[in-house]
Amino acid sequence: MSRAQLRPDGRGHFGPYGGRFVPETLMAPLDELARAYDRWSRKRAFRKRLRALLTDYAGRPTPLYFAERLTGELGGARIYLKREDLLHTGAHKLNNAIGQALLAQTMGKRRVIAETGAGQHGVATATAAALLGLECVIYMGTEDCERQRLNVYRMQLLGAEVRPVDAGSRTLKDAINESLRDWVTNVRHTHYILGSVLGPDPYPRMVRDFHRVIGEEAKRQLRKQARTASPHVAIACVGGGSNAIGLFTAFVDDPRVRLIGVEAGGSGDALGQHAARFAGGKLGVLHGTRTLVLQDDDGQIATTHSVSAGLDYPAVGPEHALLRDHKRIEYVKASDDEAIAAFHQLARTEGILPALESAHALAHAAKLAPRLPKKHVVVVNLSGRGDKDVESVLRWDRAHGEAAADDEVASVAVHPASRQWRARSEGGDAR
Ligand SMILES: *Cc1c(COP(=O)(O)O)cnc(C)c1O
Repeated sequence: MSRAQLRPDGRGHFGPYGGRFVPETLMAPLDELARAYDRWSRKRAFRKRLRALLTDYAGRPTPLYFAERLTGELGGARIYLKREDLLHTGAHKLNNAIGQALLAQTMGKRRVIAETGAGQHGVATATAAALLGLECVIYMGTEDCERQRLNVYRMQLLGAEVRPVDAGSRTLKDAINESLRDWVTNVRHTHYILGSVLGPDPYPRMVRDFHRVIGEEAKRQLRKQARTASPHVAIACVGGGSNAIGLFTAFVDDPRVRLIGVEAGGSGDALGQHAARFAGGKLGVLHGTRTLVLQDDDGQIATTHSVSAGLDYPAVGPEHALLRDHKRIEYVKASDDEAIAAFHQLARTEGILPALESAHALAHAAKLAPRLPKKHVVVVNLSGRGDKDVESVLRWDRAHGEAAADDEVASVAVHPASRQWRARSEGGDAR
């Protein structure tokens, strides 16, 4: 397998995947974007400005952290966490949002738009727009607005306008349709910031490139901290696939590194219960790209399920589909239960609450590491922090009898011992 086979051609085809399956009206905007991206991404000044924003504003490089207690509990390979959860706004998504917002500004656009499902990409985009002084409109299904009210307000605080989309299933895919419609109408002064390695060319390769920094940093950090630039295994969760490709790209040419993408196994194997495109998807076209799509026998897009909102998109990035065909990346799944267990394990052993998306990658690491020699190195991409998921985990644990009900939580708060402590500290005893 040569590197050339894995690169997209001039029209963004990753082998049989990718491309541009869009109405004629979108061809010119996509051409303009591809030309601008190819031109600016090579310029020193653009790269320097992007690097400065990622460093001074977003907080790069993010640490690579040896999870010693987790490693000890699993009893096998050494686990290193790439801490994208420590990036500003709490997830890897800002790498891409800042990259595209800067490109938009460089292209002379004064307005950016984006779709969002759970709200994470909307928040990242609104943040980047505030940073660069761009007008910002976020499309979000009404169903998602209802479920993610705090993120709607967060975007508004950041100066964005959130436009609810009341069409179709009133979720992410309808928000994408609406964003594309807006873009066609307002393309002269508007750029569409797509949130993962999806959509028509040039998005899949452009979004990948803005996230490559994850793997490049990890490689340098491993060389220093683990005396190797080739981990034995790299693991990441795969929704659209941007955090995974961001980590993996640095290692794709190194056959010694085993790359594993983890999809949402959800609550079962039947269509509708999971978001495992590599287990149940068929070749199809969704949102302008040809790739594996979860669909029923009539080609209707299937509903998906995952305990983590960021992994439930019915299609996967076209580059992932190609890398799977070439057996360069293995794809596995982790179920809702396994992700929740991994969430608890990381919290307990390392004092880190992972995003439930990232917990899928941790769940697979927990299965694999005990079977590997102790000197092996496993890198897990901790794509985001889990503060946003605490309520979901609490609800889950209660439904499974593993967390106290509200009245019990309340009674803990007024436990006699804590009352005593409070009385003492309020008593002005300074010791
Ligand atoms: C959005 C999101 C994902 C899934 O998106 P990818 O494009 O597959 O990376 C994973 N983790 C977190 C924390 C997210 O916010």
